[in-house]
Formats: sequence, structure tokens, C-alpha cells
Amino acid sequence: MMNRIHDEMQGMTDRGAVADYIPELAQVSPAHFAMSVCTADGQSFHVGEAGVPFSIQSISKVFTLALALGRLGDQLWSRVGREPSGLAFNSMVQLEHERGIPRNPFINAGAIVVTDAILAGHAPREVLGEVLRFVRQAAGDDDIHINHRVAKSEQATGHRNMALAHFLRAHGNLRNAPDLTCGVYFHQCAIEMTTRQLAQAGRFLMGGLPAARLLSPARVRRINALMMTCGHYDGSGDFAYRVGLPGKSGVGGGILVIAPGRAAIAVWSPGLDAQGNSRLGTLAVERLAQAAGWSVFG
Ligand code: GLU
Repeated sequence: MMNRIHDEMQGMTDRGAVADYIPELAQVSPAHFAMSVCTADGQSFHVGEAGVPFSIQSISKVFTLALALGRLGDQLWSRVGREPSGLAFNSMVQLEHERGIPRNPFINAGAIVVTDAILAGHAPREVLGEVLRFVRQAAGDDDIHINHRVAKSEQATGHRNMALAHFLRAHGNLRNAPDLTCGVYFHQCAIEMTTRQLAQAGRFLMGGLPAARLLSPARVRRINALMMTCGHYDGSGDFAYRVGLPGKSGVGGGILVIAPGRAAIAVWSPGLDAQGNSRLGTLAVERLAQAAGWSVFG
């Protein structure tokens, strides 16, 4: 099935547009494609460039949320909501309207609050070390690193995220200095992984595997619920309709998708649709979910 989907994707001409607001990402060719699947019985399958690292960007928000929930528990929800945003991932309007409480932990403002929460009282380097440790442990692979050029590139141009952070601070919902929290946020987004590593790292969200228990089953279910409702920004409804599985996308063109109890799927194709989600990545997982009969909706 995966080979067939890979062949179909090779023939696609409408691949979407690579994110260009982060200069380093603008250089990535839209021609890349990779997909990896880890199944609950311990097998893994790969097609395309499954060994080529890419910028995971917003997919990192799943890992920082898992860390924050593990560390702070439900207290986190006093600072960030759990509703889909229906607006762009970096919207200012909504944050103003909702007085500095971001809609959910996957839009940028919400992820900045989550990062701020795990930063509390620690040095940025320590926190980034902790995020990397978590991701490496989840993937069972130590060869996962931050691309500092990508982080610097976003740091130099990420005025909108800085504006969101200042706005949060003005509303009393940011404990650390905006440049400190954003510095950690830009670096977590600049983690690079291959689809092979990302699918492996997603296993803890599949549930049911004692070895993959980085988080309690109840928290795993909740993170999946948030991925389903908020994981693709204002494209979340369409992703749920087409794919029927929880997923989190990043502007690097990656998507982590979970078929609960069955599989963790990672896909990468850098070209994005208008909502900032991988165009071919979405199509490929839509076809895979359909062919495998995977859906949380029966
Ligand atoms: N680092 C990106 C930003 O903050 C992440 C966005 C995304 O991957 O959707 O703009």
C-alpha cells in the first residue's frame, strides 16, 4: 500500500508551496517525500526519503505539551484553552479578543505559553536538553538534533511570534521574558527528524504499548483529542473529515498521525496548502488510512 501511495505521490504536480517566512525553510525543495509507519506489533515500514531529516516545526508542540502535562498536570489549562481556533496558526486577533488566553496549545500563542510553563525556573539550555531527551527517548534514537541555522533564521525574522509573546506578557500569561521563551520555542521548532524517527517517537501516543508509556493512558487520549481538534489549525476539520485520525502538522511539511492502538505514522512533503499543512502529506495519509481501514470514527 505504501509503495503504491509513494508512486502516486511521485506523479503529483500540485505539491503546494514551501514555507518561505522562515528563510532557511524557503530553501528546501518541494520534491521531497517520505512516509514511515510503526505498527503496534513492533513492525515498521518506510517509503521515500525516510532517512532524510527535516524541520519538525510545530510537531514539536506535541512533545512540549506532553512534557508540560507530565510536569504541571491540569494546572496548565488555566493558561491555555482546548478549543479549535478556526483561525491562522499565528493569529493576533483571537488572542486580543480572548484576553491573552490562547485557544489551544497548538496555535503559536498557546505553544509559546506551554514552552513558558516548562521553562519556569530553568535555564533555556536545560529545558531544550529536556525536550531533546524526551524526543530521543520516545524515538529510541539519540541521533536527533536541533538545526541551529533554522532556529537563528526564525529568531531573526519571527517578529509575529515575538509580538504574540509580548501580548501574552501584557496579559500576565507569560512568566519569562518574551525573548527568552521565544528563544526556546524557536529552537524546539528547529528540531530535525526523519520520518523514521518521528514515527518511532509517535509510538507513545498510540496507547496500549507498555514499553512506550511515557505518559499515562488518560493523557495520551487527551493529547490525541487535541491533535484531532486542533492539530491542523483552521484545516483541522478538513483533516478529520479526510483522514479520520488525530494528527499534528508543521510548516516544515511534516505530519505526525496516530491510529490509536494500531500505528504511528509520519509523513513529509515540504509543499504546504493555504492553511500551512503539507499538501501531499495530507493526501498520502488520507490514502493510507483509507486503504488500511484506519479511522477513529469506525
Ligand atoms: N516555528 C513556526 C512558527 O512559529 C511553527 C509553525 C508551524 O509549524 O505551523 O511560525
